[in-house]
Amino acid sequence: MSKVVCKKCILDSDIPGITINMETGFCHFCETYAPLSLQEKGEYLAKIEELFEKHRGKGNYDVIYALSGGKDSSYTLYKLKKDYPFLKVLAVQFNNGFISEGAVKNAKKICKITGSDYYQLTMQNKILYDTFRKAAESYDAFPKFAKYRASDICNICITIIKQKLIEQAIVQKVPFIVFAFTAGQSPNPIINLSPNFIKWSRNMFETQLQKIGIHDKDELFLVKNKVIEDLEGSAPSILHPLCLWEYSEDKVLETLLEIGWEPPGINDSNSTNCTLNSFACYNHLEKYGFHPYTFDIAGLVRSGEMSREEGLEKINQELSRPLIEEAAKKLKLNLKED
Ligand SMILES: [Zn+2]
Repeated sequence: MSKVVCKKCILDSDIPGITINMETGFCHFCETYAPLSLQEKGEYLAKIEELFEKHRGKGNYDVIYALSGGKDSSYTLYKLKKDYPFLKVLAVQFNNGFISEGAVKNAKKICKITGSDYYQLTMQNKILYDTFRKAAESYDAFPKFAKYRASDICNICITIIKQKLIEQAIVQKVPFIVFAFTAGQSPNPIINLSPNFIKWSRNMFETQLQKIGIHDKDELFLVKNKVIEDLEGSAPSILHPLCLWEYSEDKVLETLLEIGWEPPGINDSNSTNCTLNSFACYNHLEKYGFHPYTFDIAGLVRSGEMSREEGLEKINQELSRPLIEEAAKKLKLNLKED
């Protein structure tokens, strides 16, 4: 049967697990889609404000912020500090060995503008390259649903960030960790972590790393067991305020350009901050046959944050061959000849 694309989002019948209802023309995600109402969003925002009021001023910082230097994370930090100027924020940028110069410059600039402290999490390039190479060479190392959310390389990278931010939050007694996920990426706006959950997710990541051949005995990528043991009672909460705000890519860019954020020169529309992204997408397409951003972008289209045309264009866009080659060289991987 020929490929059928969902009438509302961009998922199609060639993607494993996706069927399109022939009567409605929708995929099952679109058929069961129930976005937060304006009222529910308002209630979540009121709850977040209440939490800020209640817990601020207790630790070294009020918020640990995951800052990539890309547009969404830069904008979210800007608006967070505009709406809640009293928050003391430590913005953490992970240098995964492929971070663009522009992303570092933008991250530092946005921290200066918002009065946030900037911290760059660094690791030895050799260790990172080795890890990403093993992720690229792995197949189905993560639970099935993970590969629909991101490439194996990106899954490793984002999980390292999450682990290390949780660790920082515990060590510095910071009550909140904030990420810049959009409504299309459909996170829960408020996630209260518990010591048991932190331990469980740490051990699960350790197992996944082992599956791809990484034995992280120094706990470079994992929340240190010692830190979890010292955790008494309350654990930090993860907040996703961007999914509660009105969002459009144009509005975000407009705001950022006004305050002096500079659009990066990297030729890759899916990531404005990481030079490994094109290779990660290429690797995922080769292994699994669909673009790793398909579900993410389908979510953005479904929630109205992106037009369907733009979404289809993004997942069908040619990946940058020079960026792919450059990353493959760093990872010491050979590319198939096209
Ligand atoms: Zn759909």
